[in-house]
Amino acid sequence: MTGMARVAWAAVIALTLVAELAVSPRVMASGLPVDEVAQGVFVHRGVHEDASNANLGDIANIGFIVGGKAVAVIDPGGSPRVGGLLRETVRSFTDKPIRYLILTHAHPYHVFGASAFAADKPRIFGHAKLPSAIARRSAYYISTFTGILGVEAKALKPPAVTDTVSDRLELDLGGRTLVLRAHPTAHTDHDLTVFDTQTQTLWASDLLFRERIPVVDGSIKGWLRVGEHLSTISAQRVVPGHGPVSADWPEALADQRRYLEILVRDVRAVLKANGTLESAVATVGEEERPHWLLFDDYNKRNVTASFVELEWE
Ligand SMILES: [Zn+2]
Repeated sequence: MTGMARVAWAAVIALTLVAELAVSPRVMASGLPVDEVAQGVFVHRGVHEDASNANLGDIANIGFIVGGKAVAVIDPGGSPRVGGLLRETVRSFTDKPIRYLILTHAHPYHVFGASAFAADKPRIFGHAKLPSAIARRSAYYISTFTGILGVEAKALKPPAVTDTVSDRLELDLGGRTLVLRAHPTAHTDHDLTVFDTQTQTLWASDLLFRERIPVVDGSIKGWLRVGEHLSTISAQRVVPGHGPVSADWPEALADQRRYLEILVRDVRAVLKANGTLESAVATVGEEERPHWLLFDDYNKRNVTASFVELEWE
């Protein structure tokens, strides 16, 4: 990181801290630290790192919502250990049954904690295309994550989805309704968001990355379209899949939209000039480097995915 970039980051982090304190006093509990970002809405923030043995795959935002009769966990975390800690956290706040496990998509650091909730026998909700994504990717994720997390392969179990959402579904937690929405291909081809009607909290998960560079694993054009749709939802706050919760909605989408739009614009320019994938990967997105953590880990991959998608326009 350059000196300028470091200064810029210090400013971003300072502003973020101020904004965060305004919306989410930190509540410590046993298990994982969580913020009660709105009444009954608890968020644990993952670290901005790639998954590793040291962080146990605790790299995404996960959490739970407590209703009058039941608890819904939204993404159980990146490993059985993290899932177990999240379960402990739920139990430190409420004795209500954990009836629902909502999986926002198949990425391993969002779902591998599911097995820790087996004793609760929750109904497991996901996008209509989630089961096939899990079936397609599980073997790869398990073999990769076994090494990364330093656990035995048998410790990682793909979650068994019991209820799928193809458009919209309302879930009643007892006087508290969650609206689950299945989206067209964007971050992945099976993104699900959760809207808590009581507190007007939009749990966007990985349809929104903040601070950490977004990862295009579905469609860059689709993601921009879905982002436009999400921005029309009237919400008091948004929970991203990575980065701080924000009360500025839809402004919190601005950085991600800018990055994705630059990729589309510049990849199209390379294609128009009959440039190669290599030349696109070497140049596109560079101006965004100061704005994102883990930029070098994912920008080239995003450019490659965008090139392949936009080549056929
Ligand atoms: Zn993801």
